Amino acid sequence: MIILRTAVYFFLTAILLAGENPRPKNIIILIGDGMGVDAVTATVLTHSNSPYKRFRSIGFSLTSSANNLITESAAGATALATGYKTKSYMVSVDSLSQPLYTFFELAMDKSKAAGIVVTSSVSHATPGAFYAHVNDRKNEYEIALQLVSKNLDVVIGGGREYFLPENLGGSRKDNRDLISEMKNHGYKYFEFADELLSSNSDEKILALLSFNGFPSADERIFSLAELTQKAIDKLSTDDDGFVLMIEGSQIDWFAHDNNTEKLLTELEDFNSAINTCLDFAESSGNTLVIVTADHETGGVAVTSGNKDGSNLVLCYTGRGHTAAMVPVFAFGPGEENFKGIMENFNLSRIIFQLIDPAYTFPE
Ligand SMILES: [Zn+2]
Repeated sequence: MIILRTAVYFFLTAILLAGENPRPKNIIILIGDGMGVDAVTATVLTHSNSPYKRFRSIGFSLTSSANNLITESAAGATALATGYKTKSYMVSVDSLSQPLYTFFELAMDKSKAAGIVVTSSVSHATPGAFYAHVNDRKNEYEIALQLVSKNLDVVIGGGREYFLPENLGGSRKDNRDLISEMKNHGYKYFEFADELLSSNSDEKILALLSFNGFPSADERIFSLAELTQKAIDKLSTDDDGFVLMIEGSQIDWFAHDNNTEKLLTELEDFNSAINTCLDFAESSGNTLVIVTADHETGGVAVTSGNKDGSNLVLCYTGRGHTAAMVPVFAFGPGEENFKGIMENFNLSRIIFQLIDPAYTFPE
């Protein structure tokens, strides 16, 4: 009996190895916060730089949290980062406030480089879920504190106020200057985008380009594509590969406001970052690019407009999040795993397995 079981085991492994698709060296996940199917429809119809037709592997993700059909960004990002659903407002901890291991942590344990690029504060719920563990997303001071010793290679976004004490113009009450502490951890610090974009330093990057969130896309003097390229240039110097999370954070903000003009400019800026990642993936040949959302916001529907995409009218069912399935787009080694309808946490579990096929989830 044992001989038979062993024979079957080796037979299966042989099949797997023989049939194994190549695994990506680098994984880039782009999260359009609040970006549902009709937001994507609007940008495909409107913007010449829309990247979505460059994808062949397309699926849908179900976004509920552990305790709500309608989720929010902390639980949404936790599912994408850890492979588990948790309660709303919790950041990469389970419902007993125990830390949940993220695929960023797995990748770094495998000596890969890691980075985040966002248009909100870098201590906001979505980026926080990839490197920190707190039971309330509002505690951005604790999330920022956990970033200090996490040793990410690239941190680009806003949120200076959570890194500085009041006497240095921030809002921390513990008198700690986390920017100086991160400089002591080997980071090169940038406050201005032009300095960051013209820098050739090979040190780890900490760029906090605004006091809290960035200005909206139509007011920004730099594009998400430029920041993304900077991150890729740095991370791709690591021989073991890298993981990178890029967030179009403000898509959600303007969907909440039902502000179509600003929503479209955020989507267009997000497109530019996706194109930058796809161009890199096409040239490198070993990079998986995933585009998805943590949830849909506003119940957006394209209700009228011209066939050429001009004069589009977007209607909203409300100012909150909805339970609508969100799209999943994948390109590169492993993309075939992201087709069909999946639970958000399963999307993450596929990423864990692509980083380490031997990884098993503690149940
Ligand atoms: Zn939201």
